[in-house]
Amino acid sequence: MKTSLTSPKKKQVLIIGAGAAGTAAAYSLSKMDDKFDVQVWEAAPQAGGVATSEKIDGPGDLVINDGVQGGCPTYRNTLNLMSEFGLSGSPVHMKISFGKGPTAWTNYTRTQLVKTLAPEIKRFGRTLRIINKLEFFFLFIPISKVLKWFGHSEEFCNQMVFPLTALFFGTGNQTPHVSAAIMARVFLDDDLRLFDYDPECLLSQSPEMFAFPRLHDMYATIIRQLNVQFFPNRAVASVTRREGKVVVVDEKGKGMTFDEVIFTCNAETVLKVLHEPSCLERRALGSVRYYNDVTITHEDEEYMERHYELHKDIDQYFIRTDPSDPSKLEMSFNLSNYQPGLKSVKAEDGDSHQRNIYQTIFLDDATKDIWTKDEIDPSKIRLVRWWRQFSHTWRHFAFSMPFMRYLQGKGHVWYAGSYTLINTHEVAIVSGFAAANRLGAPYPFPDDQLASDQFDQYLLLVHGRARHRGCNCATLKSFLLAPLWAILTGLALFIHFIMRCMGKDV
Ligand SMILES: Cc1cc2nc3c(=O)[nH]c(=O)nc-3n(C[C@H](O)[C@H](O)[C@H](O)COP(=O)(O)OP(=O)(O)OC[C@H]3O[C@@H](n4cnc5c(N)ncnc54)[C@H](O)[C@@H]3O)c2cc1C
Repeated sequence: MKTSLTSPKKKQVLIIGAGAAGTAAAYSLSKMDDKFDVQVWEAAPQAGGVATSEKIDGPGDLVINDGVQGGCPTYRNTLNLMSEFGLSGSPVHMKISFGKGPTAWTNYTRTQLVKTLAPEIKRFGRTLRIINKLEFFFLFIPISKVLKWFGHSEEFCNQMVFPLTALFFGTGNQTPHVSAAIMARVFLDDDLRLFDYDPECLLSQSPEMFAFPRLHDMYATIIRQLNVQFFPNRAVASVTRREGKVVVVDEKGKGMTFDEVIFTCNAETVLKVLHEPSCLERRALGSVRYYNDVTITHEDEEYMERHYELHKDIDQYFIRTDPSDPSKLEMSFNLSNYQPGLKSVKAEDGDSHQRNIYQTIFLDDATKDIWTKDEIDPSKIRLVRWWRQFSHTWRHFAFSMPFMRYLQGKGHVWYAGSYTLINTHEVAIVSGFAAANRLGAPYPFPDDQLASDQFDQYLLLVHGRARHRGCNCATLKSFLLAPLWAILTGLALFIHFIMRCMGKDV
């Protein structure tokens, strides 16, 4: 931690929030300590944001990662950042159990459902390729509509495609409204792809992922070693832009003036604390839709058996659709098959089998009347935690994301965080690097092609900038993207307006 006196020539920068985005921004800026004096104010007692570890109730002294769990090998920026601090993930081969009884399927066996839907699974490949080719158009259309247009059955959507999309983005009950282009990217995008599309089984068998190490320790290790001043338990209460500077006051009423401020907390908090936001700021940030979700960490095996096809020692993920409304989903994890530290923990009954710690996530409390939460035996509950997550409905890509580029840097205020694009740890990290880059800190991993491609894409979409200025293809794209996006947003709004006038739900 830095203790030296601040130099007047250096830019005074405040990062609000020390989640993945704030930590990444702090990392980039701290490498330029001749140019920047960086402070990080974090509301929570530790860094990490939703990437947290918690001690759980019940026998033993177990600590689990209770929010973020893992990522794909394509999370190059996350993995590079970790390796700078001697940290690495543990490889996991993802095994998933979907549905129950006649609707059951997995990514490693051929169940009756997979056999019945085989022709549609094959046709889905064509649907994906078309969506991918016309991505700009399909960005604004929900997957439920697009799959209907392409003649896919409700059974295929509800039992296969929606659960799979929900698994990747945690979109739960908003999944039918997720942008079709984003869904196609889950399968086809080289940078984002989680599963290889398989024309026979839909999913490739056991794709490789990685599990994070204990996240509390990981973030503590990173933030401790950075050349920044880190202030945990210091929530920002107000941010005012005044005469080319930014005045920030914390919840205890203590204020400071900074040259630049990077917001990495969620969009709702920004709007709460930012004094006199512009119309565009209100519109773009106010269009990020948040939902309340709750995770219950438990050891209720009977609950798991009642709702899922439980292959105890194999699967990491379980997804069920609500029998009364198959577009509604619930998800569970067997954390013991996921987190390396839990694998070796044995049950306490003297037997040598693994102790299975499950986590069930109940999404969007507006639909809590159909949650099965109360069926979990209270004596087997180990941890209850509420989250506020945003959703990737088409509205996010029509009303929020395209406008972020016009907000960046206005009045010396910058925005980072996964909500600026897509809800993944990798995007959060990239967004922090991008904000730091706009202030003058070089992108830290230019030699890793995939990592820098992802950074460049983000910079183009959310900042409207190319990393290398001058006459090149990326600069040209950055100029063309804005009017193209405006036209498509207008077109999407027009189509949705017409459909509304025709009494059709959008
Ligand atoms: C339960 C859950 C599980 C997930 N699992 C995965 C996963 O397995 N893999 C994956 O890739 N992604 C996962 N994600 C998504 C992804 O990890 C997140 O999108 C990403 O980590 C968010 O990082 P962030 O920095 O944008 O925001 P956050 O992590 O939300 O960080 C924002 C920070 O700002 C702080 N803050 C808020 N208000 C203030 C204030 N007024 N003053 C100061 N500080 C403030 C907060 O305390 C927080 O630390 C998961 C998300 C959730 C919620």
